[in-house]
Amino acid sequence: MNRFIGSFFMSLTVYSNVDLTRRNTMGLNSRARYAATCLTPQDLNSLFEIAQRDQLKVFPLGSGSNLLLHDWIDGIVLTSIDRSVEIEGVRVTAGAGLSWDELVQITLANNLFGLENLSGIPGTVGAAPMQNIGAYGVELSEMIIGVEVFDFVKNETRYFDREACQFGYRTSHFKVYQAGQYFITKVILELKRHFQPVLAYSDIARLPKTQTASGQSLRSAVLAIRAGKLPDYNNTPNAGSFFKNPFVTQKMSQDLSSQGLRTYSFDGRFKVSAAALIQAAGLVGIRSGGVRVSPKHALVFENVGEATLADIQDLAARVREAVHTQFGVQLEMEPQGYVV
Ligand SMILES: Cc1cc2nc3c(=O)[nH]c(=O)nc-3n(C[C@H](O)[C@H](O)[C@H](O)COP(=O)(O)OP(=O)(O)OC[C@H]3O[C@@H](n4cnc5c(N)ncnc54)[C@H](O)[C@@H]3O)c2cc1C
Repeated sequence: MNRFIGSFFMSLTVYSNVDLTRRNTMGLNSRARYAATCLTPQDLNSLFEIAQRDQLKVFPLGSGSNLLLHDWIDGIVLTSIDRSVEIEGVRVTAGAGLSWDELVQITLANNLFGLENLSGIPGTVGAAPMQNIGAYGVELSEMIIGVEVFDFVKNETRYFDREACQFGYRTSHFKVYQAGQYFITKVILELKRHFQPVLAYSDIARLPKTQTASGQSLRSAVLAIRAGKLPDYNNTPNAGSFFKNPFVTQKMSQDLSSQGLRTYSFDGRFKVSAAALIQAAGLVGIRSGGVRVSPKHALVFENVGEATLADIQDLAARVREAVHTQFGVQLEMEPQGYVV
């Protein structure tokens, strides 16, 4: 049973012994010593003081769609409830607690373009810069001007411009320094007034012109592609792509191509699909305890019944070893775990 500890200022609320099982899409059983929600900078100052006083670590939590949780989190799990959106011309400032896909819908409804290909990505606005979310040839970093964060080391609100965010493929400054120092409070984007669809990605390039003629139609097409490819975490708990698509050298790219595995260029380097490697290694459907490699999408680990973190770690190790032995490629995990 969650125990209500108190409401500090107007919007900071803290509960103790909180069940997080329904707050992570992988469906891992987990409890937190404390869980708090915050809205304002004062909430964060106040929480900073509580954390300092009681020597507690702070763990940011959005929708839990990119997280592997331990069964006990000994600290304060912190979630933003700031769902604000401000639009000034092509500049959009969104609160960390807003759902990412809601932001995509709001921007399209206001004739602002650029986020269509990122439709349907689960999670919150605040978590999106963490791993620089991306899909179908578009990355968030292309649209971000800056990020407002609360710094839990300095007890102050800070602003990071795009350069300071150090975005890369599924990474950022915040992901590297993620161990509770930065809590993202606002994300500031610059979008486009004119619809300029990004159609290069193969799944999108194949679409008939009618489906890419407007921002709304492209969004619908992206949602349909996603629904056809990815298992629904509401029915089959999962954390999306389990591994990043790895970069490979030119020599490895040639070797992989000779084995029928297509590589492609990204940021002037070569990348290969991690799903294709897993498939080619014959790993689809293999299982460790309650978790298996999804038969629907080889890059997804599904919780098929009471999966534990140990099951996931075991399956990840088996997949990584098999892919490395067969193709000489190291796979890197995408979802985060809290450092406890
Ligand atoms: C079915 C499925 C499909 C997916 N498809 C894609 C995809 O196409 N592209 C893609 O890039 N990702 C994808 N993901 C991954 C995931 O949706 C994104 O990484 C998303 O941004 C995570 O948001 P969240 O709110 O759930 O974050 P959480 O899982 O709650 O947190 C993720 C990380 O961000 C940190 N964090 C959360 N909120 C904050 C904050 N306010 N300040 C600082 N740190 C914070 C957490 O501590 C954690 O380290 C998919 C996931 C699933 C389950």
